[in-house]
Amino acid sequence: MTMATLQFEGAGKTYDGKTVLDDVSLNINEGSVVALVGHNGAGKTTMMKLLLGLIRPCSGQVRVLGLDPAGPEGSEAKRNLGFLPETVAFQQAMTGLDVLNFYARLKRADLNANRTLLARVGLADAAGQPVKTYSKGMRQRLGLAQALLGAPRVMLLDEPTTGLDPALRRSFYDTLSALKREGVTVLLSSHALSELESRIDKVAIMNNGKLIASGTLSELRNQARVPVRIRLRTRDGQANEIANQLSGAEISRVNGQIVEFVCAPEEKMVLVRRVSELGVAIEDMEIDLPTLDQLYSHYRNDGRDDGGLQ
Ligand code: ADP
Repeated sequence: MTMATLQFEGAGKTYDGKTVLDDVSLNINEGSVVALVGHNGAGKTTMMKLLLGLIRPCSGQVRVLGLDPAGPEGSEAKRNLGFLPETVAFQQAMTGLDVLNFYARLKRADLNANRTLLARVGLADAAGQPVKTYSKGMRQRLGLAQALLGAPRVMLLDEPTTGLDPALRRSFYDTLSALKREGVTVLLSSHALSELESRIDKVAIMNNGKLIASGTLSELRNQARVPVRIRLRTRDGQANEIANQLSGAEISRVNGQIVEFVCAPEEKMVLVRRVSELGVAIEDMEIDLPTLDQLYSHYRNDGRDDGGLQ
């Protein structure tokens, strides 16, 4: 059995009697990329702080590479952790390279690797410029370079794409794929659900301090039983006839060439077979699986909380 790289076992946290994390159990295996999603105040940052050993759980336990990050072995655990906070603030007068050298000394990482690291996040040309001349996106990328110092085995990224324009987001996702190829374990919190979908292995959904769902997208789709939407393009004028032949399916739209229907996930293959038996009358078929956004809303509504992602 592979040991989980990051573990929460019945972890709880309260502040002045207010529960902000409630009995959270979650294992994240080596080399997987996991998105932590939830509304503001759901407990995501608290989980990151626990993993960083900045705070201790009031109940249960938290482990990083099998070690207690807030205990005596904490520094060993932290040596293998890279962290990108939600808001990054650096000494304005320092250059990008100065900043990285400063943090590299703290982390006892090799200073010679810093130019390469800046190039990796697209800041090679800005290495010698003071941080005060950097745009928000450039600061965010400097933060990412800081988190990558010393080639950590585990990366914790709090809202890494906030404030990045589409090109920078793409380059962030390229870095994420590279980390995955290198076998780095990544836990990232994000609101950018639709972008994340194809780039993550698992999702953990938090709501009011509770972990309300976790698993791969397909596991969550099966579990949530959110209906699947199927759209057929038929030969001209045959939509009504096709819709009649699909009696039993819940038809949601018919016009000229289009027949649209919804079904439960487990009925999908039965309906796809029936459609294929209709032969050449069907010119095209599209299947819309529930998106991460839809799954998130589903679980949130189950949690009877009507807040939303901002
Ligand atoms: P998220 O990152 O999902 O937005 P957080 O983990 O930051 O959520 O916060 C979860 C809850 O814990 C919030 O209600 C927040 O106000 C509360 N909280 C976080 N840190 C503290 C603290 N140091 N003292 C009191 N309450 C806190």
